[in-house]
Amino acid sequence: MHCPFCQAADTKVIDSRLIGDCMQVRRRRECVVCQERFTTYEAAELIMPQVVKNDGRRESFSQEKLRTGMQRALEKRPVSAEKIEIAVNNIKRLLRACGEREIQSSILGEWVMAELRKLDHIAYVRFASVYRSFKDVNAFFDEIKRLEDGEREV
Ligand SMILES: [Zn+2]
Repeated sequence: MHCPFCQAADTKVIDSRLIGDCMQVRRRRECVVCQERFTTYEAAELIMPQVVKNDGRRESFSQEKLRTGMQRALEKRPVSAEKIEIAVNNIKRLLRACGEREIQSSILGEWVMAELRKLDHIAYVRFASVYRSFKDVNAFFDEIKRLEDGEREV
């Protein structure tokens, strides 16, 4: 990496540590020419797969939509926001780990149900019964979003 101060081609790493949830590495570097120090942050660029809906349309995975959908299912249930966040992260991890460019929305739906089952049985049953009639988790999340937007307007 080039020194941002004198553009020298050589810099050395003097300290390196993982930060956050170990998804980022912070490095202190020192220029071998001018001895200036600077910090770099490195994170792997992970691309989320596209979600293929039942009608064949593709949609970018939306973490916000997923979270809203799960919160809706868990409404008034004794499950902390932190636990929901962990469940959302578990699903994101599965999405990244699958390494595919596209994923069927039915698979995403199964993952959501598996996480809900771990969190709260009532929420799971609630979600599963509605979801099964939609057969498409993204369509279901769209409907939840539509309902919530509607509520906000009232
Ligand atoms: Zn330098």
